Amino acid sequence: MAGESNRRPGHTAHWADATAEKIIWEKGDKEQYTCASGITPSGTVHIGNFREIISTDLVVRSLRDRGKTVRFIYSWDDYDVFRKVPVNMPGREDLEKYLRFPITVVPDPWGRDSSYARHHEVDVETVLPLVGIQPEFLYQAERYRSSLYAAGIRRALEHRELLKDILDKFRDEEHKIQGEWWPVGVFCDGCHKDETEVESWDGEWGLRYHCLSCGRAETVDLRNARGVKLGWRVDWPMRWEYEKVDFEPAGKDHHSQGGSFDTARHVCKEVYGWDAPVTFRYDFIGIKGNPGKMSSSKGKVVDLPDLLRVYTPELVRYLFAGTRPNTEFTISFDLDVIKIYEDYDKTERIAWGDEKPKDEDTFKREKRIYELSQVLTGPGGRPAMPPVKPYQIPFRHLCSLIQIADGDIEKAIASLGRGGQGSAAEGGVRPTAEQIPGIRSRALCAKYWIDECAPEEFRFKLRTPGAPADAGPALSPEERDAVRRLRDTVVARIETYAGDKDCAEAIYKAAEDSHLEGKTLFRAAYQALIGKDQGPRLAAFLRSINKDRLLAILADY
Ligand SMILES: [Zn+2]
Repeated sequence: MAGESNRRPGHTAHWADATAEKIIWEKGDKEQYTCASGITPSGTVHIGNFREIISTDLVVRSLRDRGKTVRFIYSWDDYDVFRKVPVNMPGREDLEKYLRFPITVVPDPWGRDSSYARHHEVDVETVLPLVGIQPEFLYQAERYRSSLYAAGIRRALEHRELLKDILDKFRDEEHKIQGEWWPVGVFCDGCHKDETEVESWDGEWGLRYHCLSCGRAETVDLRNARGVKLGWRVDWPMRWEYEKVDFEPAGKDHHSQGGSFDTARHVCKEVYGWDAPVTFRYDFIGIKGNPGKMSSSKGKVVDLPDLLRVYTPELVRYLFAGTRPNTEFTISFDLDVIKIYEDYDKTERIAWGDEKPKDEDTFKREKRIYELSQVLTGPGGRPAMPPVKPYQIPFRHLCSLIQIADGDIEKAIASLGRGGQGSAAEGGVRPTAEQIPGIRSRALCAKYWIDECAPEEFRFKLRTPGAPADAGPALSPEERDAVRRLRDTVVARIETYAGDKDCAEAIYKAAEDSHLEGKTLFRAAYQALIGKDQGPRLAAFLRSINKDRLLAILADY
């Protein structure tokens, strides 16, 4: 299974590969392919927006796997207008003064960055590399203000009537463009606002406007004008041609019938003479469970940093790599988190040949998903297996170990594979130094999840040995007897069990010998250990706790 050298990437049936094949098929063999994504940084870039970025990244990696040179551009549409102050913004009153300004001129209400737009950009640019995504960022305010698109704007003005017809074709009667229409808008040079009206165009580079807000009126030269901007439905296709974009996914909102992608496709071809990029529609993402503490400034929006507190970077990539973009799915912060880690671990075992999949197709698919889930790529940015095989520790078990270690992650890691204890992972093998960082990354997520997201019944704390008897749980005489029996017959020789199964059998035998139902003994044991009726699977739990500590806790009985 490990011999993957003659794997042909086209044969995995993964959606990213299918898209890459489609791009090559439709756009032909090219020196370089350009894949694009982008957004207006007018608020927190949430996890739904992130779906677009990572979907593009997955296709980029797949193209690179085919030996193609790829330019991955991410456009910050930061020359858009500041339309309304989002809820929960600090300094709302100050911000209101900047309504109708380009967001790139609005000050950062947190005072950290050079502007409101830049603040949101920095938040994203800082976190994307953590999940292995490193596009080339393009700043549209900067580009428009340096008149980079003068020719594209002039072309739109030259084709004003055609543009109007294209846009109208997709509108019903009552929404057709009325009266005079210009494909451009202008931010006033005097007051920055976009409350302006275009008066005329001289057929070349001169555009005359006046401002309804401050009264300024002037003729600007498109070749050095700073405030002239194309409307969205023309701006998008103009930039497709400008950057020679071959692929760009878009959300449901743009991909509706007659939505901006449809009109952009026509504008791109008919006005700018460029075929629209290959695309697909990505769907919305739901959120389930409580993502933990969230910064109040962004309201109830879940973003990538929220996800990274519960899911390791590989798991985050896996969530998206393992789901077709056009299906709606839910990201969970509740008990399902355990299941998602288990699914990933299974994919990992299949990819490394440690678990036999049901057929060869499953193997190819799972291995491909696994490769695409890795943060690091191989040479040339190709998806690749990690250089070191990760140490597998089930998330659920890790949560127990961390709680046994009273929240001390390093202590929990140090307990892995030690002697007969803490050995539920990897059959008692200790992790190597190269494997530790991966375990630590998962442990940090496990700890955050227990503290902030897990249901109450999942949390526990080992009782302090020697605590006063009345501080301990009230057990019936026969339950106390069961705990003693568990201590003297099972815990006393805990190091002799070959595995959890052996230990579990011994526990059932102890129950039988004290003429108790298993469930009564379990309740008594959990009460004695953590003061609750339920807890982690008992055999693995007992084997994970230091023997002396265990005996000390149970000595009270
Ligand atoms: Zn003005």
